[in-house]
Amino acid sequence: MAYTYDDQNIFAKILRKEIPNDTVLETEHSLAFRDIRPQAPLHVLVIPKGPYVTFDHFAQEASEAEIVDYVRAVGEVCRREGVAEDGWRLISNAGRDGVQEVPHLHVHVLAGRGLGRMLERG
Ligand code: 5GP
Repeated sequence: MAYTYDDQNIFAKILRKEIPNDTVLETEHSLAFRDIRPQAPLHVLVIPKGPYVTFDHFAQEASEAEIVDYVRAVGEVCRREGVAEDGWRLISNAGRDGVQEVPHLHVHVLAGRGLGRMLERG
């Protein structure tokens, strides 16, 4: 699968600082910020700064430095936000069936209440 990155997507605009965001953590290769429509008491999005559409795209084309930075940034968000102990959920939607709204790789870090079962039908 070949990926084409659309640099007009909303997270590209956030990275270029054309749109404000509520930053939780910024590292050399990653940015974490609060979701504008939170679905849990803690709802943070973690994105790589590079132009990757999905997790698969990132896994194929990102450098090891970017991948290490990104994975560590997710863990750091959980520790900083104090949810590592009580628990949290990591979701990354990709493509049509994954119902991905923004075509720039992001993981959702959700926490702060019992999150129920992983998937609802429908
Ligand atoms: P997806 O469905 O692509 O996995 O999730 C995209 C997420 O981006 C949604 O949870 C949505 O609320 C969030 N989002 C969309 N636009 C903005 C924005 O301008 N700022 C922030 N902080 N989050 C956004």
